[in-house]
Amino acid sequence: MHFKQCAGMLYIQKSVGPRWVCWVHHSDGVSHCQECLMLDGCLFLESKAPQCPHHPSCHCTLDPIDYAIVQRIASADSDYSKFDPYLFNTQGKYTHSKEKLFASWGYFVEDARWLQAEMERQAREKYLMGDYKLGRLDQWGQHINIRVEIPKRNGIGNVSFTTGWMVCPDGQIKLNTPYGGK
Ligand SMILES: [Zn+2]
Ligand SMILES: [Zn+2]
Repeated sequence: MHFKQCAGMLYIQKSVGPRWVCWVHHSDGVSHCQECLMLDGCLFLESKAPQCPHHPSCHCTLDPIDYAIVQRIASADSDYSKFDPYLFNTQGKYTHSKEKLFASWGYFVEDARWLQAEMERQAREKYLMGDYKLGRLDQWGQHINIRVEIPKRNGIGNVSFTTGWMVCPDGQIKLNTPYGGK
């Protein structure tokens, strides 16, 4: 299905812009590893795509996809639960202390909705600019890191940190962790 979507859109037009590719898994009866299946339909900047082929006898390909299409379909999504209860530790279940870090910048759970929207906005923009770092590839798929910047609510200037995302099919990225380190 994703294959058809990616391949089908190749023929629409060829516009100028960064070169993007769609990971396409070709099922030809042979069993395949989970990692290739998770990559199927995922979009990457050509110079920042996972290694393809991924392993011996991998039949996956990186097919060019028009940047205009990438721009149209790209989305960054997150579950609210990544902020509340997780990041702000509103149920006291976590020992990560990330809520203290955000409190030191003037952010509290009341800001969760704003933070969620802001992180999604910046992540989508940076993903589209190819401004991401490839992380590990595992059974859940390809991890990427994206740096975001937010104003200090209680002081002068901004603070920047990395956020962790999963690359999903059809131009979507999904938030894994709202704070992955400095
Ligand atoms: Zn494979
Ligand atoms: Zn493969």
